[in-house]
Amino acid sequence: GNHLFSRLRQALAEKRLEARFQPLVWAKTEQVQGFEALVRWHETDLGWVPPDRFIPMAEARGLIVELGRQMADAAFRQLSIWREAGHAVGISVNISKRQLQESGFCEEMQDLARVHRLTVDWITFEVTERQSLLHDPVCRGSLERLGAAGFRLSLDDFGSGHSAFDMVAEIAFRELKIDMGLCRKAASTRSRPIVQAIVDMCGTLELDSVAEGIEDETQARLFSEMGVTLLQGYYFSPPMTGEAAMQYLSSGKSRREPQA
Ligand code: C2E
Ligand code: CA
Ligand code: CA
Repeated sequence: GNHLFSRLRQALAEKRLEARFQPLVWAKTEQVQGFEALVRWHETDLGWVPPDRFIPMAEARGLIVELGRQMADAAFRQLSIWREAGHAVGISVNISKRQLQESGFCEEMQDLARVHRLTVDWITFEVTERQSLLHDPVCRGSLERLGAAGFRLSLDDFGSGHSAFDMVAEIAFRELKIDMGLCRKAASTRSRPIVQAIVDMCGTLELDSVAEGIEDETQARLFSEMGVTLLQGYYFSPPMTGEAAMQYLSSGKSRREPQA
């Protein structure tokens, strides 16, 4: 409630929110395409507060613009470090409706990319239909500007409750992330054709498709065989610090070593 909200506001003011990075891996080669930045919040008395508990609150109560700004800065900063070390990877950043409604959001992100000496097509912005942002003309305009500026756009959680099939082709998305819940169901013979249809649609529209929440080799193989282009999940790596991600890249392997 109010207590958690004021604690979050304080943590933001003190810039104590952290970013973790989870790899996205090409299904064909298992090479790392890039990392998704995920926010983390720790308090000594509260422990790690899950994003699902504080992101909706930040969105509803006016903190998401500042949270998103700090995350974009952390993500871009980390990407420039990996890039300077010679790793040809990208970064994916989750953005919310309220951020897209800010006038000048695209220009702000372009400036931030410039400050960190990044090319915009190394940067992907992930949006979900949870907040019906594709039906908001201001958000659509903002997404169109980001796409025209050269940022990659990704439609997250596709196939969940709020997916807008009709919007997929209207905005210049470059990637579609299949909802984790739907990916889970792909193991069953009844749901698999639905997932396959989404993957095939991505092929037709020349969008990258991502299967999220891959936890074992069987799932990785299943989605590869279905033609999904990118895989993400604990099987490859949990979200990790920027430094650990650098080691992961340097080690040249994208998959975790079998546990001894
Ligand atoms: P999301 O964008 O769908 O992110 C994927 C979530 O799945 C992450 O949860 C990630 O840690 C988790 N995950 C990754 N691999 C696996 C796996 O193999 N199995 C399972 N069970 N889970 C896996 P997380 O970090 O708790 O984030 C939850 C949600 O919070 C995100 O869902 C996203 O909607 C939101 N979020 C996180 N960071 C940000 C941010 O910086 N800005 C905004 N606006 N939203 C964020
Ligand atoms: Ca995401
Ligand atoms: Ca997702």
